Amino acid sequence: MRYHHGKVTTHHWLRWYRSLRLVQMCSSPASSNNGHRHHLEVTDHAERSKVMSSAEVVSVMKLSQTVTGFTLRVADQRLTFKAGQWLDLFIPGVEVVGGYSICSPPHQLVTDRTLQLAIKSSPHTPTLWMCTQCKVGDKLSIRVGGDYYYDPPGGVEHGRHLLFIAGGIGINPILSMVQHHVHLQTQQHDQTDTGRVQVLYSTKSRDELVFCDQLAELARSSASLMMSFYITREKSTANQERSDIKYHRINRDDLEQCLSRLQPSDNLTCYLCGPQQMVDMITTTLEQLGVKNSQINSEKWW
Ligand SMILES: Cc1cc2nc3c(=O)[nH]c(=O)nc-3n(C[C@H](O)[C@H](O)[C@H](O)COP(=O)(O)OP(=O)(O)OC[C@H]3O[C@@H](n4cnc5c(N)ncnc54)[C@H](O)[C@@H]3O)c2cc1C
Repeated sequence: MRYHHGKVTTHHWLRWYRSLRLVQMCSSPASSNNGHRHHLEVTDHAERSKVMSSAEVVSVMKLSQTVTGFTLRVADQRLTFKAGQWLDLFIPGVEVVGGYSICSPPHQLVTDRTLQLAIKSSPHTPTLWMCTQCKVGDKLSIRVGGDYYYDPPGGVEHGRHLLFIAGGIGINPILSMVQHHVHLQTQQHDQTDTGRVQVLYSTKSRDELVFCDQLAELARSSASLMMSFYITREKSTANQERSDIKYHRINRDDLEQCLSRLQPSDNLTCYLCGPQQMVDMITTTLEQLGVKNSQINSEKWW
């Protein structure tokens, strides 16, 4: 195993994993990942912590028809993470390693040694296990990794505007980052000019908008934070429950409106996570509207 600045690179794991996949593909012609690349391959480039910890499942909760939420209590005190990072998840008896973004903020781990995941059901082996078999008391092993995170070194940066855009279950790293930002703001002595923050969160249906209430509550607690929700495959009804939910895909007009609130745009940093087409479309549009590519950070799960 190779260490780089105290971190473990994935080459060792990837070699082990590829040999495992070869055995799996030979024994099972119907690939369990529907032809997609697995987490260890997708994140081959990313750095990982050298701390591998055991973690006990302390709650399992259905968040929507397709999404299940998990709380894990982490055994090893040395395990820490930055808002936006993910876990390699090792499930006893399941050969394929899962990969899931942490949706809770880092200060929760400090306070009670727990972190949270939200997993969307899929036939992918570890995902299927988590969503159908995992129960309270189960023991898993976890390791933190990833280069996509929000961790301003001196606390909230003065005058720095933030634009967070999430599609579907891509909300997970964004939720952690937004909670971390609000937490940092509350710690700040000087709360003037901490910049404006805009969150756009889009899903197919109202049921899939699993963190809508939690985010709306955060927005109520922070004057600089604005939320907009989008539902793309359901129509609004006459007695539509909330005025902050729009019924269309995030489009150029929405982005233009956000950017006008987040001026000057030189002070803007964007964080995106969602399906590939959405991330590509939004990146292109933001660039057309004058945001530099270096200001846009996106987490790619493909
Ligand atoms: C770094 C990383 C973090 C991840 N975090 C999570 C997580 O927190 N929760 C979770 O349920 N799954 C997460 N995944 C996906 C998970 O590891 C599996 O890839 C997924 O369960 C496999 O589903 P599928 O093969 O059926 O792919 P599909 O559902 O068919 O999706 C195709 C690809 O697009 C990606 N994708 C689909 N929708 C989104 C979206 N809204 N945002 C971003 N990418 C998307 C999928 O990960 C997959 O690679 C993550 C993957 C990676 C690489």
